[in-house]
Amino acid sequence: MNILIFGPNGSGKGTQGSLLKKKFNLAHIESGAIFRDHIKNGTELGKKAKEYIDKGELVPDEITIPMVLETLKEKGKDGWLLDGFPRNITQAKKLWEALQEAGMNLDYVVEIKLDREIAKNRIMGRRLCENDPNHPNNIYIDAIKPNGDKCRVCGGALKTRSDDQDEAAINKRHDIYYDTETGTLAAAYFFKDLAAQGKTKYVEVDGSRDIETIKQELLSKIEG
Ligand code: AMP
Repeated sequence: MNILIFGPNGSGKGTQGSLLKKKFNLAHIESGAIFRDHIKNGTELGKKAKEYIDKGELVPDEITIPMVLETLKEKGKDGWLLDGFPRNITQAKKLWEALQEAGMNLDYVVEIKLDREIAKNRIMGRRLCENDPNHPNNIYIDAIKPNGDKCRVCGGALKTRSDDQDEAAINKRHDIYYDTETGTLAAAYFFKDLAAQGKTKYVEVDGSRDIETIKQELLSKIEG
């Protein structure tokens, strides 16, 4: 099973992606994580990518596209979940071409839909538990509101992620995501058109609800 997942920062894409990955035993191919590995290992590619990543800009297509397509061929033979790529219309077209050439199916394209303002509040309201980063806490979401200033799950101390509080950086990322002309939503709609031609399946879910509800809806729409 090969799945592509779209969703703005703050939509729960990471959480739902992990659940899909486990359920269908997929290789999780995440462009952002590949870049972070390169940076950690001090590779040439990592050095080049870091300049852009630090500014919240997209790494140029000449670097990103071959890197992701290589990883897909190397690690994705038994099914993949592609996350963070494509982020613009050029990447979408190149991906589709590469899949055709490799004879790989694209079984599902998932779009987690979320209003931009809500997405922003979710990111800025996120609080990390010092005992376990998977304990969900968000001061703007009733279902997972912290217990005072402590983790709602274990009572641990909470902190914020510094990049979560950088409003300008969040806006920059969302500008790219919500751009329906050439940005990430344009890439998603490229696949929606292909789905209308019967070439893949496009699954849309409302990301404003809680994690469990979204998960159930996704699983009911995706058949393994
Ligand atoms: P992420 O972890 O998905 O938020 O990615 C972190 C950063 O890596 C992004 O802000 C971009 O600078 C870069 N990046 C990740 N995926 C892509 C992509 N498909 N195209 C260009 N840059 C990317």
